[in-house]
Amino acid sequence: MRSPKDMRIIQIDITNACIHQCSNCTRFCGHHKKNFFMDWETFRKSVESLHGFEHCIGIMGGEPTLHPQFERFAQYLAERHRADSLIHLTRKPIVNFPQYIRDKNYFVNECLNQCKGIGLWTSITGQYYRNFELIQDIFNYQSINDHKNPSLHQPLLASRKEMGISDAEWIPIRDNCVIQNMWSASITPKGAFFCEVAAALDMLFDGPGGWAIEQGWWQREPKDFGYQLNWCEICGGALFHSGRLASEEIDDVSPLLYEKLKNTGSPKVKAGRVMVMDMKKPQPGQPMPDTKNRYLTNFNERVSNENSVLFPDTINAIVFCQSVENHYRKKQ
Ligand code: SF4
Ligand code: SF4
Repeated sequence: MRSPKDMRIIQIDITNACIHQCSNCTRFCGHHKKNFFMDWETFRKSVESLHGFEHCIGIMGGEPTLHPQFERFAQYLAERHRADSLIHLTRKPIVNFPQYIRDKNYFVNECLNQCKGIGLWTSITGQYYRNFELIQDIFNYQSINDHKNPSLHQPLLASRKEMGISDAEWIPIRDNCVIQNMWSASITPKGAFFCEVAAALDMLFDGPGGWAIEQGWWQREPKDFGYQLNWCEICGGALFHSGRLASEEIDDVSPLLYEKLKNTGSPKVKAGRVMVMDMKKPQPGQPMPDTKNRYLTNFNERVSNENSVLFPDTINAIVFCQSVENHYRKKQ
């Protein structure tokens, strides 16, 4: 475990509405009877609470571009958390969008490790397209993933006790959780959390909420995480190393968590998009990529070929430009 102050990114979850219901989503999209949309005052407070955090602040969902105030939120965040450096982009045609984003994300090494900036986690929606210029102008970092690609998500809704893991064995396993050690803390409308999945569990199961969203909450050390660690007891983040294709839109859950989901009236359970795991057998699925981010290794796969969101609806004209200087040089 580590303090949020040592993380590369702290997320602000502005909604849990999404256009997908990916397998084993870290925000449990598809299980909520009603989605949240963070209000302006909570967002403003969240941004202010992170004053002094010198790394990346992300806007995440769900799908953050679905928030009706996305533009206002993004502009405020850019204003209050000014990046160390920005790439001002041209409006040139882009042949390979994922490649373009990868190049723009030179911050993968800089912003996400050491530099200050703002990030957007998106699955590329129509709203992304409508806000295209704004997004390119202000976000130093973009994590794009349309989830129609070969990305794997590990099961999350399971408890260590169902796997027979004793208290003594559990603490080192929990403290090595790859998600808390590699990914992010987050803020939801219910408060600030040491781990983004704990935050999502609190939302899903109507928990006690997080810490007050106030200056410096993110400087807490693991010894101060207290009651929030209880969420690890019903989380598979530290337990599984295999996953299911996100695009299958099926969750792998333990029997205990299946019952809990049923009690919340989960629409995804009602729709039969859940597989109950046999906790005595080896975990299902394919091994997760053994990479730093445990995710897609080829950036070009992050937007699939059939994703037409970024294609123009109509082309009225194509204009070719040639500089006068080149024109005469060729004639000579
Ligand atoms: S795109 Fe998939 S993984 Fe991301 S928030 Fe939506 S449902 Fe979850
Ligand atoms: S076990 Fe789950 S809740 Fe606990 S730190 Fe890991 S991902 Fe977060």
